[in-house]
Amino acid sequence: MRAFELESVEAVDQAVSHRRVHDGEAFIAGGTTLLDLVKLDVMQPEKVVDVSRLPLKRIETLEDGRLKVGALVSNTDLAKHEIVMRGYPVLSEALLSGASTGLRNMATTGGNVMQRTRCPYFRDPDMPCNKREPGSGCSAIEGINRNHSVLGTSEQCIATHPSDMCVGMVAAGATVVLEGPDGQREVAFEDYHLLPGETPEREHDLKPGELITHVILDAPRGGGQHYLKLRDRASYEFALASCAAIVTLDGDSVSDVRVALGGVATKPWRATAAEEALKGQPATQENFERAAEAAFADAVAYSHNGYKITLGKQAVVRALRDATAAARA
Ligand SMILES: Cc1cc2nc3c(=O)[nH]c(=O)nc-3n(C[C@H](O)[C@H](O)[C@H](O)COP(=O)(O)OP(=O)(O)OC[C@H]3O[C@@H](n4cnc5c(N)ncnc54)[C@H](O)[C@@H]3O)c2cc1C
Ligand code: SF4
Repeated sequence: MRAFELESVEAVDQAVSHRRVHDGEAFIAGGTTLLDLVKLDVMQPEKVVDVSRLPLKRIETLEDGRLKVGALVSNTDLAKHEIVMRGYPVLSEALLSGASTGLRNMATTGGNVMQRTRCPYFRDPDMPCNKREPGSGCSAIEGINRNHSVLGTSEQCIATHPSDMCVGMVAAGATVVLEGPDGQREVAFEDYHLLPGETPEREHDLKPGELITHVILDAPRGGGQHYLKLRDRASYEFALASCAAIVTLDGDSVSDVRVALGGVATKPWRATAAEEALKGQPATQENFERAAEAAFADAVAYSHNGYKITLGKQAVVRALRDATAAARA
C-alpha cells in the first residue's frame, strides 16, 4: 500500500475546492471500497480527502413529496428509515441484501453509488484491464467470466456493476445532486452510470472536482414492491442476478410497473422493454414470462456466463410475482 496525504474537510465548498482536478485525489466516506482498492494498488491516490464529517447525513421529505437523502447517510440508516421502509420497500430490501451489517453501517449513499466493479481482473494490477488501464485489453472476455455481464457490454469491458442499492434506486426513480467547481447540477439516476462502450474507464457522469451531495428519490410510487437477489450463498455475497420490481394494479391488470436489474449488466439496469411488455396487461405468470423474455432479448452470453440469461429471467418472473402479491395484499 502506497502512502497518501490525508485531509479532512468540514464543509461542502471546502471539499469541492480542496479537490484538485486530476486523478491523484480521491474522496473517502465510509472507506469500504476505497481502502481495499488502495491496498490492492488498483487506486493510487496521492491525496485522500475525508468527507465523512460533512453535514450530509439527513433524510428529509421535500414539499413535492420526494425524499432527499444526504450522501453520507449510511446504508443501514437509509434501509431502516421509517419513510424508506414504508414508501420505498424495494430500496430498503435492496440495501439490506448487500454486504454485511458492519459494512452497511460504514457504507454511505454516495460511496455506494460510486463503488467499483468486483471484476477480479480489475482488482489485480498484474492483469490487463481496460477499465483500470485503458488500452491494455480485457482479461475477462476470453477469461473466467462467470460473474460478468450479459447486458450493456462492449468489446472493451463486460464487468458488472455490483450495487444492490443502485438497482433499488433505478426502480424507485431518483436524481443525483452534484456540487462542483462550477456550482450545483442534477443528473437522472439512471443516466448517471455510463455504459462501458469504448471508454470503460469512464464509469459515471461525475465531472472532475465534483462531489455527490444528495440523492433525491422520486415521490413514493405505491404499488407492490420487491427486491430479489440471487447469489452463490445466502449472505455477504454480490448478486449473480437481481431484480427490483414495483407493480401497480388496476383490478387484475398492471397499470404501472418498474423493473430494474442487477448482477447481469454493466450498469444498474432499467428493463424498459419488460415494463412495456407488461403495462396494461393482466398480471399473470404468462405475462411475467413475456416481460422477462423482453428484458433479456438483447443479452449477449460469454463463455461462462450464459446461465445468467436464464437466471435473470427467473429473477424477473419471481420479483414480479412477489411484487404483485404485495400489491394485492
Ligand atoms: C466484503 C464486501 C462485500 C460487499 N457486498 C456488497 C453487496 O452485496 N452489495 C452491494 O451493493 N455492495 C456491497 N459492497 C460494497 C459496499 O456497498 C460499498 O463498498 C460501499 O457502499 C461504499 O461506500 P463507502 O462510503 O464505504 O465508500 P468509499 O470507500 O468511502 O468510497 C468509494 C468511492 O466513492 C467515492 N466517493 C465516496 N463518497 C463520494 C461522494 N459523496 N461523492 C463522490 N465520490 C464519492 C470515493 O472517492 C471512492 O472512489 C461490499 C463491500 C465489501 C468490502
Ligand atoms: S471486464 Fe472490464 S473490468 Fe474486467 S478485465 Fe475486462 S475491462 Fe477490466
